[in-house]
Amino acid sequence: MKELPIIIAGAGIAGLSAALAVARTGRRALVLEKAPRVSEAGAGIQLSPNATRHLRRWGVAARLRGAALAPRAVIIRRARDGAVLARLPLDEAEKRWGAPYLVAHRADLQRALADAVAEVEEIELRSGVGVAGFSADEEKVAVGAKHGLIRLRFDGAALIGADGLWSEVRQRLNIAGDSPPRAAHRTAWRATIPVSDLPKQFAAPQVNLWLGKRAHVVHYPLRRGTCVNVVAIVEDPAAGGENPDFWNEPRDPALLQRAFARWHGTARDLLAASADWRTWPLFDRTPLAHWSAGRVTLAGDAAHPMLPFLAQGAAQAIEDAAALERALSSDNDIAAAFATYQAARSARAARLQAAARKQGDIYHMGQPAAFARDLVMRGLGPQRMLARQDWIYDYRE
Ligand SMILES: Cc1cc2nc3c(=O)[nH]c(=O)nc-3n(C[C@H](O)[C@H](O)[C@H](O)COP(=O)(O)OP(=O)(O)OC[C@H]3O[C@@H](n4cnc5c(N)ncnc54)[C@H](O)[C@@H]3O)c2cc1C
Repeated sequence: MKELPIIIAGAGIAGLSAALAVARTGRRALVLEKAPRVSEAGAGIQLSPNATRHLRRWGVAARLRGAALAPRAVIIRRARDGAVLARLPLDEAEKRWGAPYLVAHRADLQRALADAVAEVEEIELRSGVGVAGFSADEEKVAVGAKHGLIRLRFDGAALIGADGLWSEVRQRLNIAGDSPPRAAHRTAWRATIPVSDLPKQFAAPQVNLWLGKRAHVVHYPLRRGTCVNVVAIVEDPAAGGENPDFWNEPRDPALLQRAFARWHGTARDLLAASADWRTWPLFDRTPLAHWSAGRVTLAGDAAHPMLPFLAQGAAQAIEDAAALERALSSDNDIAAAFATYQAARSARAARLQAAARKQGDIYHMGQPAAFARDLVMRGLGPQRMLARQDWIYDYRE
């Protein structure tokens, strides 16, 4: 009889990475994705070396080649006058951290992962099937799912909930002390702007970060420099009060322009260059010390959603998959492997969740704290700025 597959709820970056990892340990994976099509809304994504080292090992980085771009530096500017506060050279990323720092369009990353998955015989992906519940014993799991109005049941050797921030699997695990996601009262505005609509300087291969009071902007070129990805994050007491499913909502750009009216002209020109802005309310969640129970575990945002200020959410989902691969390779007992995986991941993920939250506060400082922050950044210099990233990017477990 064929061994039962490990069932994975969700075909986002966490779910597809986990499927590749499971298959690399010689097991079968069945990925159930609620959405009718595997797709990725949003725009750009930064892929730091702690993530690209695994994407490379799994053959996904090679599929991204051409679509991804290696920025040469991160430039940090002050919103008021555009003054450069710091420059982090990324040309040396490969030498320093053993893997490249890349930026890519999310759709291209999702496609590269989906194409890699499609080539692996041990992985089956079923779209339009939402996991609605599960029961587990010492031998296997039974997963209840819905395909439209049809109820389905799948038997598996185990279940990995990679079903995102609002994870159904996490909710049904009933983890002691867990609480629902809470609004971070910040809105992310996102747009992708053709470079032909912008002054030439925006096509420079670099990640740009502008810091202002209660807001910041990140922009970088994508897709061989043909477009520029822009994310503007604004504090907004009402954000997250609306239906949390309302992600990727179109919004009136006039609201955005008003929030940035006192910013330097270069930043304002960028924000005025698109009429098509989409918004995402940001959410945060208390870190979990435990997210596995026997043959059921979590990965990615389901386990440890984090605010986007360190650009690490997807990278941590990829690290999760690598840790699953390691644990499942060295233990035939899946429940024991899941416990090993969780022990390897929970402290690091919690540290990043906390660091991302703190980074948001630092980015959005008003005076006089911002003055002190800017002095420190200027004083550190590129090498010490890089060294501060080592614990994140040089992670090789
Ligand atoms: C503005 C912004 C910028 C960001 N920038 C970066 C960045 O530069 N770098 C970085 O590393 N990270 C970044 N992140 C974080 C990153 O986007 C997320 O951490 C990452 O996408 C999480 O992937 P995931 O697969 O865990 O979850 P998701 O992407 O949410 O995927 C979950 C999947 O599960 C499916 N699903 C949900 N419920 C069910 C169910 N019941 N049954 C079956 N399927 C289900 C969903 O349809 C979805 O496909 C950013 C986030 C934001 C908001």
